[in-house]
Amino acid sequence: MTPQTDLKNYTLEGLVRFVEGLGQPAFRGRQIMSWLYRPGITEFDQMTDIAKKFREILKEKTFISNFTDPILERSQDGCIKFGFHLEDGSIVESVLIPEEDRNTLCLSSQVGCAMNCSFCLTGTMGFARNLTPAEMVNQVCAVRDFLLAEPAENLIGPREVTNLVFMGMGEPLNNLDNLLTALSILTEPKGLDFTKRKVTVSTCGIAPKLKKLGENSTVNLAISLHAVDDATRDLLMPVNTRYPLDVLLEACRTYPMPKRRRIMFEYILLKGINDSDEQAYELARKLHKIPCKINLLPYNESPLLPYRSPTPERVLAFQKILLDKHFSVFIRTSRGSDISAACGQLAGKNQPGKSS
Ligand code: SF4
Repeated sequence: MTPQTDLKNYTLEGLVRFVEGLGQPAFRGRQIMSWLYRPGITEFDQMTDIAKKFREILKEKTFISNFTDPILERSQDGCIKFGFHLEDGSIVESVLIPEEDRNTLCLSSQVGCAMNCSFCLTGTMGFARNLTPAEMVNQVCAVRDFLLAEPAENLIGPREVTNLVFMGMGEPLNNLDNLLTALSILTEPKGLDFTKRKVTVSTCGIAPKLKKLGENSTVNLAISLHAVDDATRDLLMPVNTRYPLDVLLEACRTYPMPKRRRIMFEYILLKGINDSDEQAYELARKLHKIPCKINLLPYNESPLLPYRSPTPERVLAFQKILLDKHFSVFIRTSRGSDISAACGQLAGKNQPGKSS
């Protein structure tokens, strides 16, 4: 019989409870956790401090999942898009964004997305299913292993993944329980051991779920805002018809987060739609008294969607208005657009049955 339980779906506490259910002491769960996320660990027989008899029980009842043989696409700017084959035949994508001093990995939380944002190609593929916690953390394990094996001359950044952002395919808060399990594994010292400040969850604004995220994890929060009035945001992001700007921003104002932490507001600049001086002033008014930073993202144009990117001068003028109002404002340049790996471009073109 094929074992049904993937041990990578458990937090440390979950693993302890699982081994206790098998009549083992709690420390066995901690031992297993400290093996599971080491590079190269794929077999129970590699866990040499676990008694052979218990290893046999684990082999019978459980398994250790791993992603192998990803589809790779390399951008001219050094970004790498990974397509990972899932058990059910679908493919999920992650994007490695290397810089000299860091490697940011953009992770997916679902296959496809149900939120249908009008500027996003992922939204056009519809929603297929939630990823399991194991499928989220295995994206990190696989890219970590890729970097460890990559020839030195190919490396732009360090030989490790340093930052994680849930900004790939899917709306993370629509898969919140699995996301919280994955975040626990990613930040657990016996797991993948990322500091919480290096992990960011980005949401399109599922306002009622923000509180639960903040109460259960202290990773960074990013909000895809993209408009300052409900009429424009309704058109760009249908989620706004359920949770309009006032509701979303009130949830941000009351978001439980550590002292000195700030919410990151993402704002895609779309020519003629949300990039005027008046809209910049309104953005400043809307975010008044919310501890925050603002990322301005000039739109990545796609021939499949009608939006256009503003001129660099317009982007700078929009930024200046916010800077003059004493906000921290960054302009994020597009990476990986030649391989459809830039923000909003993950559309699973390698999905079985999808044309490219
Ligand atoms: S922008 Fe994010 S939430 Fe919106 S459709 Fe794309 S993946 Fe989904």
